[in-house]
Amino acid sequence: MNMSIKENLINIKSQLPNNVKLVAVSKFHPAEAVMQAIDAGQKVFGENRVQEAAQKFDIVKAAHPDVELRIIGSLQRNKVKEAVRIADAIDSVDRIELLEEIEKQAAKIGKKIQVLLEFHTGEESKSGFESKEKIFEAMEKFAAGAFPSIEPRGFMTMAPFTDDQELVRASFAKLRDLRDECQKRFAGFDLSELSMGMSGDWKIAVEEGSTMVRIGTAIFGARDYGNAKQAGA
Ligand SMILES: *Cc1c(COP(=O)(O)O)cnc(C)c1O
Repeated sequence: MNMSIKENLINIKSQLPNNVKLVAVSKFHPAEAVMQAIDAGQKVFGENRVQEAAQKFDIVKAAHPDVELRIIGSLQRNKVKEAVRIADAIDSVDRIELLEEIEKQAAKIGKKIQVLLEFHTGEESKSGFESKEKIFEAMEKFAAGAFPSIEPRGFMTMAPFTDDQELVRASFAKLRDLRDECQKRFAGFDLSELSMGMSGDWKIAVEEGSTMVRIGTAIFGARDYGNAKQAGA
């Protein structure tokens, strides 16, 4: 058994405040790596491609039904059906049409699914709702009862890829401000979750109020993109 996944998990958890959830991002790593993390006590995983996630987590969940899978990558409409089938939460919702499709597919199979709304907070990242007005518009639809199968739980962002820590911090602070404003406007919903922070910037994210960090490399090691592509992931 590879002890380093376990050691990495123990190391990160020892530094993470108790109220911050750890999403282990297993993209490009095989089901065996996920199993090792589960053996070390990890229960929540993130994947950014639906097909790859389904291949792995159909196996993993058959053995461990209590494991939670979160989709964290940008999602095409034609992948929503499969995403809704396999995932417990979709954290990368970046447009209203996606909510409409998630609702349609979730209602079809009678599933209630959680989502986070992804907000574009950094110049260099491309994903996420572009403006807070758009996010308010999405929340108005929730408030009007348009998405009975979907439970909005908060927000997600990716900080810009830069060495400038102040830019990274500003990006996280922007998400927190959005959350606070949205929570006030839509007080009937619990929008408390802030999914922010990755291997390189999670400590800053936690300082800025993250409730959920998404960590891949620091748990599973570097990703081998070449192999994963050949494997059809
Ligand atoms: C890959 C990925 C992560 C994890 O990145 P690491 O730097 O390996 O920790 C987090 N969030 C998203 C959206 C990702 O695609």
